[in-house]
Amino acid sequence: MVNTSRTPVYRDAGFELYDAETTKDTFAKEAEHERIPDLYIYSRYRNPTVIAAEEEIMKLEECRWALLTESGMSSVDTAVSVFQKGRSTGPWLFFSEIYGGTISFIDSVLKGRRGLDIHTFSPANEKYDLQEFEKLMASVRPELVYIEAISNPMLIVTDAPAVITSAHKYGAKVIVDNTFATPSLWRPLKSGADIVIHSATKYLSGHGDITAGVVCGNDPEIMRSAIEYRKFVGHMLSPDDAYRLSSNIQTFDLRFRQQCLNAARICVVLKQHPAVRKVWYPGLDEHPTHLEAVKLFGKRGFGGMITFDFDGSNESEKKRKRDKFIKAVSEKIKLIPSLGDPKSILMPVESVWGTKYPEPGMIRLSAGFEDTDNLEETIIRGLESTNSGQ
Ligand code: PLP
Repeated sequence: MVNTSRTPVYRDAGFELYDAETTKDTFAKEAEHERIPDLYIYSRYRNPTVIAAEEEIMKLEECRWALLTESGMSSVDTAVSVFQKGRSTGPWLFFSEIYGGTISFIDSVLKGRRGLDIHTFSPANEKYDLQEFEKLMASVRPELVYIEAISNPMLIVTDAPAVITSAHKYGAKVIVDNTFATPSLWRPLKSGADIVIHSATKYLSGHGDITAGVVCGNDPEIMRSAIEYRKFVGHMLSPDDAYRLSSNIQTFDLRFRQQCLNAARICVVLKQHPAVRKVWYPGLDEHPTHLEAVKLFGKRGFGGMITFDFDGSNESEKKRKRDKFIKAVSEKIKLIPSLGDPKSILMPVESVWGTKYPEPGMIRLSAGFEDTDNLEETIIRGLESTNSGQ
């Protein structure tokens, strides 16, 4: 025995089962899909290093089980597939303002390949109307409802506990993608969600160097089904990534608190500058879902994401300002298509979402946990640069 408090990296692809009798018993027991097996069989099924990382996430989400997968998208796939029942699968309802990759997965895989009956619920005036949601539930009667607590890139906050209550009233299960809010702002399982997923690539790992996802819940039947699905399609996370995730998670609270603080400070700088036309940040009184954010997150913060748009009399002027800003800050704030990294990073909205959002100059910024004063200086320098030359 080595006196370490950490679970080491067990890279074994297969584990030793000693003899024919033990092998038979272990495989028979495997059909029960327990979270921690008596004996490990094969790393794609379960791995002790992965289980150690899952237990760190269980502490954060305060839930009975967590299952790591090799990406956020494989968590989405695992979560929804738990509720698929062949030809007898009923309609599913997705809130429309969700991660673009999830929308592509719905179109290409759920509708295109699996032929599922998918419905969407869209916001009106950058806000979800819960009375309209009730009406849709009553007419569609979906078996599954899928939401993100904070949407991307408009940062619409849903009164998610009300959505969960209403969905359950109609007998639907609810999956919440909690990547943007994180357990630091809200724990959906406490409000009755059936499954919570995260792209752990983002805030949970928090250093931009791990691709991972996690499916969390309390219901043991859902867990068994998710373990089985993860095993059969091979969505398991690697032990090396799980080990690094276990370490990174130790600093999650500190990192995310600083990211929320930096986002709030950047928001003030952006709001005060004449080069900026509009800022979307759920902490602002004027944000269409500020009240929902206060109700859901209390005083814990409003997340680490901000979206803003440049002032300008026409499309090309706005784009010109956007490009100047991106160039001026590029030493300190890189254009990286992710979020939740240690350093602030940004994305031009139009380049990714096209004309879905009408303002061509929009930028989505993920606040890092770097020094706040330096970050403010960089943003101000970037904004000032938009006024120079042509
Ligand atoms: N969910 C949300 C909200 C995301 O932002 C992302 C990725 O950006 C995903 C899921 C997919 O995660 P991954 O890229 O780790 O597969």
